[in-house]
This record gives sequence, structure tokens and C-alpha cells, in this order.
Amino acid sequence: MNHLIVVVGAGPAGLAVANVMTKQGHEVVVLNRDIKFGGLAEYGIFPNKHKLRGGLRKGYWEILTRPNVRYFGNVMVGNGYHLTVSELRALGPSAVVFSTGAQGTKTIGVEGDTAQGVYHAKDCVYHYNLLPEFSTRPFEMGQRVAVIGIGDVMVDTPRRFAPSAPISIRTPSRRRWCGSLRA
Ligand SMILES: Cc1cc2nc3c(=O)[nH]c(=O)nc-3n(C[C@H](O)[C@H](O)[C@H](O)COP(=O)(O)OP(=O)(O)OC[C@H]3O[C@@H](n4cnc5c(N)ncnc54)[C@H](O)[C@@H]3O)c2cc1C
Repeated sequence: MNHLIVVVGAGPAGLAVANVMTKQGHEVVVLNRDIKFGGLAEYGIFPNKHKLRGGLRKGYWEILTRPNVRYFGNVMVGNGYHLTVSELRALGPSAVVFSTGAQGTKTIGVEGDTAQGVYHAKDCVYHYNLLPEFSTRPFEMGQRVAVIGIGDVMVDTPRRFAPSAPISIRTPSRRRWCGSLRA
């Protein structure tokens, strides 16, 4: 028996669901807040990682062009948005899968953490990966940048915004390591 599955969110998780369900012959409707599919695999990975990005895009495109998949970008699900959960349920799907990722940002809870010139790395990568709304927002870094946290985007972000300036990076981290780096 074939089922209708609604997947909310077209990041790696949602597209993995679409992959498995369509292979089993089910109909899948994918609703995504962003116009482009891929989630943070599209809007989070540094732009010059062409091989990684290209490989992912190709794989996701193959899934989304299957005859039993329908993809709708620019559709936000939630109360007060384009579609509510009740409206989705009223369509009569066998399952609604929420794969909306961990999209929020959070401050670190110290004085000044929301001051002008303090940015969240995810907002910066959204900017240089041209996610609408973030793409036109200015992210001015100046000549000295303090980076809090040791993640993959630690160096990417200041290098992207001040590529030719000498950048001093200090990276305290309570989890793994305490120290400073000079780039
Ligand atoms: C800056 C950054 C860089 C990263 N770089 C790498 C990397 O180089 N390699 C790697 O393997 N991993 C990387 N990751 C991690 C990887 O991107 C995530 O683990 C992965 O994207 C999580 O997949 P997901 O599908 O759960 O969520 P997401 O990728 O966050 O996708 C969620 C999707 O849901 C949609 N959505 C959200 N809310 C709604 C809503 N209400 N209605 C409809 N749609 C909605 C969003 O538009 C999005 O398309 C990076 C993460 C970040 C933040």
C-alpha cells in the first residue's frame, strides 16, 4: 500500500526521509522554509568547498526529481505562517515528518553579547551563502576579530569578511581547550 508522507524541512535529515520513503514507493511532499533545498548543507558549508557542496547537491537533486516527490520551497510551516500543522494533517497524510533542524541562534549570556559588531557565526555563513534576508545584512569585522568557540567555521568566518587584513583570533573554549590562536 502506498502512503502520502509530508516532510517539513529539506535539510539532510528531511531528504534522507524522502530518499527512503520514495524508494519504498510512497508519495512524498517536501515543504521547505528556504527556497533552496539542502538546509545547512546548502547554507552552512563554506562556499569554496565545491566538491562537498556539489556532491551533496547532486545527490539531493536526484532524490527531489523522482516522480513520486513534490518539492515546495519558500513554505514556512507553523502557527501564523503559510501552513499550520492542523492544515497539513487535514490533507490526510499517513505521516508528517518534522526535520526542521536546529536553526536557532543563541547568545552566550555575558554582558555585551548582543552589542553592535557581535555576530553569530551561523548568521555570517547564511550571509555569504546568500540566504535571503541575511544576504543583504552588513557584517563588518574590522581588523581584529575575537572568535568564541572552536567549530568548523571558527576561521572561515573572519577570513571571509576580512580576507586580506591581519586577523587576531582568540578562542577560549570551556569544552575542549583553552588558549589562543594567531592567524
Ligand atoms: C555553519 C555550519 C557549517 C556546517 N558545515 C558542515 C560541513 O562542512 N560538513 C558537514 O557534514 N556538516 C556541516 N554542518 C552540519 C550540518 O549542516 C548539519 O548537521 C545538518 O545540516 C543537519 O541537518 P538537518 O536536516 O537536521 O537540519 P538543517 O540542515 O538545519 O535543515 C532544516 C531545514 O528545515 C527547514 N525549516 C526550518 N524550519 C522550518 C519550518 N518551520 N517550515 C518549513 N521548513 C523549515 C530549513 O529551511 C532547512 O532547509 C554545518 C553546520 C553549520 C551550522
